[in-house]
Amino acid sequence: MIESNRLRIAIQKSGRLSKDSQKLLKSCGVKFNVNEQRLIAHADNMPIDLLRVRDDDIPGLVMDGVVDLGIIGENVLEEEQLERQLVNKPAECTKLRELDFGACRLSLAVPNEFSYNDAQSLEGLRIATSYPNILRRFMQEKGINYRDCMLKGSVEVAPRAGLADGICDLVSTGATLEANGLYETEVIYRSMACIIQSTQTQTPSKQALIDKILSRVNGVIRARE
Ligand code: ATP
Ligand code: ZN
Repeated sequence: MIESNRLRIAIQKSGRLSKDSQKLLKSCGVKFNVNEQRLIAHADNMPIDLLRVRDDDIPGLVMDGVVDLGIIGENVLEEEQLERQLVNKPAECTKLRELDFGACRLSLAVPNEFSYNDAQSLEGLRIATSYPNILRRFMQEKGINYRDCMLKGSVEVAPRAGLADGICDLVSTGATLEANGLYETEVIYRSMACIIQSTQTQTPSKQALIDKILSRVNGVIRARE
């Protein structure tokens, strides 16, 4: 394994969590400049390297011990944990704390003309989602059989395109659903961004740095409340 004395923190490269993740670390006193073309940003004033990656890669990088910390949506963390449990891959990590951004919910939604009573209305139907494991857990708990339509993007257009009867997708305001002639019927998971730590042994100096950052994160969030 490639050892590094510097603390590695994985954050989303570009997307809904990237600006808030960078802002949080800067508020904690970590000084760095991001070059959009580069994967790594080195902090100037602390032994910290930021790894800028796709959000979907962050839980796995932490669980495999490639990086020490990650800032990620709980939805992506939960999905990766369920996926890894299924294939017997290491799925452990420690959630240090929930953060104060990235709020969204994973919801079921159906076309406006669909008459929905409860989740049972979806029995035997096809549901498009990027979160097959969280969806499966919910549907199993309810005892509902359904068919998968796995899409990494454009989930909200699947019903209109005739690919699925309903969807299970992330919602924050509901504007995207409305724009696609869909309505939200059931929230199956509520999510915020969170900060996670690898369970693999840290050197005492890295652990001390993690403790320092976490205590600053607590202070920053308390001050913003
Ligand atoms: P990447 O290119 O890194 O894979 P992405 O397209 O998968 O990015 P984003 O759309 O940037 O991901 O969303 C990142 C995270 O932001 C989500 O996993 C979720 O935790 C959070 N989020 C907050 N609000 C929303 C929303 N309305 N829709 C989607 N994600 C949201
Ligand atoms: Zn993603």
